[in-house]
Amino acid sequence: MTAHPLFDISGRTALVTGSSRGIGLALARGLLEAGCRVVLNGRDGERLAKAAAELPGDVHTAVFDVTDGASVAAGIADVEERVGPLDILVNNAGMQLRAPLLEFTDSDWHRILDTNLTSAFLVGREAARGMTERGRGKIINICSLQSEVVRPGIAPYAATKGALKMLTKGMCADWGPHGVQVNGLGPGYIETELTEPLVKDAEFSAWVRGRTPAGRWGRTEDLVGGVLFLASPAADFVGGQVLYVDGGMTSVL
Ligand code: NDP
Repeated sequence: MTAHPLFDISGRTALVTGSSRGIGLALARGLLEAGCRVVLNGRDGERLAKAAAELPGDVHTAVFDVTDGASVAAGIADVEERVGPLDILVNNAGMQLRAPLLEFTDSDWHRILDTNLTSAFLVGREAARGMTERGRGKIINICSLQSEVVRPGIAPYAATKGALKMLTKGMCADWGPHGVQVNGLGPGYIETELTEPLVKDAEFSAWVRGRTPAGRWGRTEDLVGGVLFLASPAADFVGGQVLYVDGGMTSVL
Protein backbone atom coordinates (compact mmCIF):
# COMPACT_ATOMS: atom_id res chain seq x y z
CA MET A 1 0.00 0.00 0.00
CA THR A 2 1.33 3.50 -0.83
CA ALA A 3 0.92 6.64 1.27
CA HIS A 4 -2.05 8.90 0.50
CA PRO A 5 -1.08 11.61 -2.07
CA LEU A 6 -2.20 14.29 0.42
CA PHE A 7 0.93 13.46 2.41
CA ASP A 8 3.32 13.54 -0.56
CA ILE A 9 5.97 16.25 -0.12
CA SER A 10 8.68 14.65 -2.26
CA GLY A 11 10.70 17.05 -4.39
CA ARG A 12 10.07 20.05 -2.08
CA THR A 13 12.93 22.19 -0.83
CA ALA A 14 13.03 22.64 2.95
CA LEU A 15 15.17 24.72 5.30
CA VAL A 16 15.36 23.73 8.97
CA THR A 17 17.04 26.33 11.19
CA GLY A 18 19.15 25.07 14.09
CA SER A 19 19.54 21.61 12.60
CA SER A 20 23.11 20.72 13.54
CA ARG A 21 21.76 18.57 16.40
CA GLY A 22 18.70 17.69 18.48
CA ILE A 23 15.18 18.32 17.26
CA GLY A 24 16.22 20.23 14.13
CA LEU A 25 18.48 17.40 12.97
CA ALA A 26 15.72 14.81 13.50
CA LEU A 27 13.23 16.98 11.58
CA ALA A 28 15.75 17.41 8.75
CA ARG A 29 16.22 13.64 8.58
CA GLY A 30 12.44 13.13 8.50
CA LEU A 31 12.01 15.62 5.65
CA LEU A 32 14.84 13.91 3.72
CA GLU A 33 13.20 10.52 4.23
CA ALA A 34 9.97 12.04 2.87
CA GLY A 35 11.85 12.91 -0.34
CA CYS A 36 12.61 16.60 0.28
CA ARG A 37 15.77 18.45 -0.61
CA VAL A 38 16.92 19.73 2.79
CA VAL A 39 19.11 22.61 3.92
CA LEU A 40 20.65 22.35 7.39
CA ASN A 41 21.44 25.55 9.31
CA GLY A 42 23.48 26.51 12.34
CA ARG A 43 26.36 28.78 13.34
CA ASP A 44 29.12 26.15 13.43
CA GLY A 45 30.11 25.19 9.87
CA GLU A 46 32.20 22.21 10.92
CA ARG A 47 29.46 20.71 13.08
CA LEU A 48 26.94 21.30 10.29
CA ALA A 49 29.12 19.59 7.66
CA LYS A 50 29.55 16.60 9.95
CA ALA A 51 25.79 16.35 10.51
CA ALA A 52 25.13 16.64 6.76
CA ALA A 53 27.66 13.90 5.97
CA GLU A 54 25.73 11.46 8.16
CA LEU A 55 22.36 12.12 6.51
CA PRO A 56 20.99 10.29 3.48
CA GLY A 57 19.65 12.12 0.39
CA ASP A 58 19.81 15.60 -1.10
CA VAL A 59 21.24 17.58 1.80
CA HIS A 60 22.86 21.04 1.84
CA THR A 61 24.17 23.37 4.53
CA ALA A 62 23.80 27.10 5.20
CA VAL A 63 25.86 28.67 7.96
CA PHE A 64 24.23 31.80 9.37
CA ASP A 65 23.16 33.27 12.69
CA VAL A 66 19.36 33.46 12.81
CA THR A 67 19.47 36.45 15.18
CA ASP A 68 21.31 38.69 12.74
CA GLY A 69 19.09 40.35 10.13
CA ALA A 70 21.83 40.95 7.55
CA SER A 71 23.17 37.37 7.85
CA VAL A 72 19.65 35.97 7.55
CA ALA A 73 18.88 38.00 4.40
CA ALA A 74 22.18 36.97 2.80
CA GLY A 75 21.72 33.35 3.97
CA ILE A 76 18.22 32.93 2.52
CA ALA A 77 19.23 34.59 -0.78
CA ASP A 78 22.23 32.26 -1.01
CA VAL A 79 20.13 29.15 -0.25
CA GLU A 80 17.52 30.04 -2.88
CA GLU A 81 20.20 30.65 -5.50
CA ARG A 82 22.28 27.56 -4.67
CA VAL A 83 19.60 25.02 -3.76
CA GLY A 84 16.33 26.42 -5.14
CA PRO A 85 13.20 28.31 -4.06
CA LEU A 86 12.07 27.35 -0.58
CA ASP A 87 8.81 25.43 -0.25
CA ILE A 88 9.09 24.63 3.46
CA LEU A 89 10.68 26.53 6.35
CA VAL A 90 10.96 25.10 9.84
CA ASN A 91 11.90 27.81 12.35
CA ASN A 92 13.48 25.55 14.94
CA ALA A 93 16.64 27.29 16.22
CA GLY A 94 16.25 28.13 19.88
CA MET A 95 17.84 28.16 23.30
CA GLN A 96 17.00 27.86 26.99
CA LEU A 97 18.33 29.91 29.93
CA ARG A 98 17.18 28.82 33.38
CA ALA A 99 17.37 31.37 36.22
CA PRO A 100 15.05 33.02 38.71
CA LEU A 101 13.63 36.19 37.15
CA LEU A 102 15.28 38.43 39.79
CA GLU A 103 18.68 37.11 38.68
CA PHE A 104 17.98 37.30 34.94
CA THR A 105 20.26 39.89 33.31
CA ASP A 106 19.34 42.39 30.59
CA SER A 107 21.74 40.78 28.14
CA ASP A 108 20.34 37.27 28.79
CA TRP A 109 16.82 38.63 28.25
CA HIS A 110 17.79 40.07 24.86
CA ARG A 111 19.75 36.93 23.91
CA ILE A 112 16.85 34.55 24.52
CA LEU A 113 14.34 36.90 22.86
CA ASP A 114 16.58 37.24 19.78
CA THR A 115 17.25 33.50 19.50
CA ASN A 116 13.73 32.20 20.10
CA LEU A 117 11.46 34.93 18.73
CA THR A 118 13.22 37.55 16.59
CA SER A 119 14.86 34.72 14.64
CA ALA A 120 11.46 33.39 13.48
CA PHE A 121 10.46 36.89 12.35
CA LEU A 122 13.74 37.45 10.49
CA VAL A 123 13.98 34.05 8.77
CA GLY A 124 10.21 33.88 8.21
CA ARG A 125 10.13 37.31 6.59
CA GLU A 126 12.99 36.56 4.22
CA ALA A 127 11.60 33.14 3.24
CA ALA A 128 8.08 34.53 2.85
CA ARG A 129 9.22 37.12 0.29
CA GLY A 130 9.67 34.41 -2.35
CA MET A 131 6.90 32.13 -1.03
CA THR A 132 4.22 34.85 -1.24
CA GLU A 133 5.41 35.82 -4.73
CA ARG A 134 5.17 32.20 -5.90
CA GLY A 135 1.85 31.76 -4.07
CA ARG A 136 2.88 28.66 -2.12
CA GLY A 137 4.80 27.72 0.98
CA LYS A 138 4.65 26.17 4.42
CA ILE A 139 6.19 27.68 7.53
CA ILE A 140 6.32 25.71 10.77
CA ASN A 141 7.43 27.51 13.93
CA ILE A 142 8.74 25.26 16.69
CA CYS A 143 6.90 26.54 19.77
CA SER A 144 6.78 24.62 23.06
CA LEU A 145 4.45 23.32 25.72
CA GLN A 146 5.72 26.50 27.40
CA SER A 147 3.75 28.50 24.82
CA GLU A 148 0.85 27.50 27.11
CA VAL A 149 2.23 26.82 30.60
CA VAL A 150 5.24 27.86 32.68
CA ARG A 151 7.32 26.71 35.65
CA PRO A 152 9.50 28.75 38.02
CA GLY A 153 12.86 29.74 36.51
CA ILE A 154 11.90 29.79 32.85
CA ALA A 155 9.66 32.86 32.53
CA PRO A 156 11.73 34.49 29.73
CA TYR A 157 11.75 31.24 27.72
CA ALA A 158 7.97 30.86 28.14
CA ALA A 159 7.50 34.51 27.15
CA THR A 160 9.40 33.93 23.89
CA LYS A 161 7.45 30.76 23.11
CA GLY A 162 4.08 32.31 23.99
CA ALA A 163 4.89 35.22 21.70
CA LEU A 164 6.02 32.81 18.99
CA LYS A 165 2.55 31.26 19.11
CA MET A 166 0.99 34.68 18.42
CA LEU A 167 3.59 35.45 15.74
CA THR A 168 2.51 32.18 14.08
CA LYS A 169 -1.09 33.37 14.00
CA GLY A 170 -0.03 36.81 12.72
CA MET A 171 2.12 35.32 9.95
CA CYS A 172 -0.88 33.19 8.98
CA ALA A 173 -3.06 36.32 8.82
CA ASP A 174 -0.56 38.21 6.65
CA TRP A 175 0.72 35.45 4.36
CA GLY A 176 -2.21 33.00 4.25
CA PRO A 177 -3.97 35.11 1.59
CA HIS A 178 -0.84 34.68 -0.56
CA GLY A 179 -0.81 30.88 -0.40
CA VAL A 180 1.62 30.52 2.49
CA GLN A 181 0.34 28.41 5.37
CA VAL A 182 1.90 29.03 8.78
CA ASN A 183 1.51 26.78 11.83
CA GLY A 184 3.38 25.86 14.98
CA LEU A 185 4.47 22.61 16.54
CA GLY A 186 4.79 22.53 20.32
CA PRO A 187 7.08 19.82 21.69
CA GLY A 188 6.77 18.59 25.25
CA TYR A 189 9.84 17.51 27.22
CA ILE A 190 12.21 16.00 24.63
CA GLU A 191 15.64 14.53 25.39
CA THR A 192 18.26 16.76 23.70
CA GLU A 193 21.33 18.82 24.62
CA LEU A 194 18.98 21.64 25.65
CA THR A 195 17.27 19.49 28.30
CA GLU A 196 20.37 17.50 29.36
CA PRO A 197 20.52 19.04 32.87
CA LEU A 198 16.86 18.13 33.41
CA VAL A 199 17.27 14.56 32.14
CA LYS A 200 20.24 14.10 34.51
CA ASP A 201 18.21 15.39 37.46
CA ALA A 202 16.60 12.12 38.64
CA GLU A 203 13.85 13.84 40.60
CA PHE A 204 12.87 16.19 37.77
CA SER A 205 13.12 13.42 35.22
CA ALA A 206 10.71 11.28 37.25
CA TRP A 207 8.37 14.28 37.59
CA VAL A 208 8.26 14.59 33.79
CA ARG A 209 7.41 10.91 33.39
CA GLY A 210 4.73 11.13 36.08
CA ARG A 211 3.15 14.30 34.66
CA THR A 212 3.06 13.00 31.08
CA PRO A 213 0.07 10.78 30.26
CA ALA A 214 2.31 8.87 27.82
CA GLY A 215 4.56 8.12 30.84
CA ARG A 216 7.91 8.98 29.30
CA TRP A 217 10.17 11.72 27.97
CA GLY A 218 9.76 12.56 24.29
CA ARG A 219 12.27 11.52 21.66
CA THR A 220 13.22 13.82 18.77
CA GLU A 221 11.67 11.29 16.35
CA ASP A 222 8.29 11.80 18.06
CA LEU A 223 8.08 15.24 16.43
CA VAL A 224 8.70 14.20 12.83
CA GLY A 225 5.14 13.08 11.96
CA GLY A 226 3.61 16.39 13.06
CA VAL A 227 6.02 18.44 10.98
CA LEU A 228 5.55 16.24 7.89
CA PHE A 229 1.78 16.65 8.28
CA LEU A 230 1.95 20.45 8.65
CA ALA A 231 4.31 20.64 5.63
CA SER A 232 2.01 18.51 3.46
CA PRO A 233 -1.07 19.29 1.31
CA ALA A 234 -3.09 17.43 3.97
CA ALA A 235 -2.71 20.57 6.12
CA ASP A 236 -3.50 23.11 3.37
CA PHE A 237 -6.54 24.38 5.31
CA VAL A 238 -4.84 24.31 8.73
CA GLY A 239 -3.65 27.81 9.60
CA GLY A 240 -2.25 29.59 12.65
CA GLN A 241 -2.52 26.50 14.86
CA VAL A 242 -0.03 25.00 17.27
CA LEU A 243 0.04 21.20 17.28
CA TYR A 244 1.25 20.07 20.70
CA VAL A 245 3.30 16.88 20.58
CA ASP A 246 3.87 16.39 24.28
CA GLY A 247 2.52 12.97 25.25
CA GLY A 248 -0.56 14.80 26.51
CA MET A 249 1.23 16.90 29.17
CA THR A 250 -0.31 20.28 28.26
CA SER A 251 -3.81 18.85 28.56
CA VAL A 252 -3.74 17.54 32.13
CA LEU A 253 -3.34 19.11 35.58
P1 NDP B 1 19.52 22.11 20.99
O1 NDP B 1 20.17 23.03 21.94
O2 NDP B 1 19.84 20.66 21.07
O3 NDP B 1 19.78 22.60 19.47
C1 NDP B 1 19.62 23.96 19.13
C2 NDP B 1 19.99 24.16 17.69
O4 NDP B 1 19.82 25.54 17.37
C3 NDP B 1 21.44 23.81 17.38
O5 NDP B 1 21.51 23.20 16.11
C4 NDP B 1 22.11 25.18 17.35
O6 NDP B 1 23.24 25.14 16.48
C5 NDP B 1 20.99 26.05 16.77
N1 NDP B 1 21.11 27.48 17.09
C6 NDP B 1 21.08 28.05 18.32
N2 NDP B 1 21.23 29.39 18.20
C7 NDP B 1 21.34 29.65 16.87
C8 NDP B 1 21.53 30.83 16.12
N3 NDP B 1 21.62 32.03 16.73
N4 NDP B 1 21.62 30.75 14.78
C9 NDP B 1 21.54 29.54 14.16
N5 NDP B 1 21.36 28.39 14.82
C10 NDP B 1 21.26 28.44 16.17
O7 NDP B 1 17.93 22.36 21.18
P2 NDP B 1 16.67 21.39 20.89
O8 NDP B 1 16.91 20.55 19.71
O9 NDP B 1 16.27 20.77 22.17
O10 NDP B 1 15.55 22.49 20.57
C11 NDP B 1 15.18 22.87 19.26
C12 NDP B 1 13.94 23.76 19.34
O11 NDP B 1 12.88 23.05 19.99
C13 NDP B 1 14.15 25.04 20.15
O12 NDP B 1 13.43 26.10 19.54
C14 NDP B 1 13.56 24.71 21.50
O13 NDP B 1 13.13 25.85 22.20
C15 NDP B 1 12.38 23.84 21.07
N6 NDP B 1 11.87 22.98 22.13
C16 NDP B 1 12.67 22.02 22.71
C17 NDP B 1 12.17 21.21 23.70
C18 NDP B 1 12.98 20.14 24.35
O14 NDP B 1 12.47 19.53 25.32
N7 NDP B 1 14.19 19.85 23.92
C19 NDP B 1 10.78 21.38 24.19
C20 NDP B 1 10.04 22.39 23.50
C21 NDP B 1 10.57 23.16 22.51
P3 NDP B 1 24.63 25.94 16.72
O15 NDP B 1 24.79 26.07 18.23
O16 NDP B 1 25.66 25.08 16.09
O17 NDP B 1 24.44 27.25 16.05
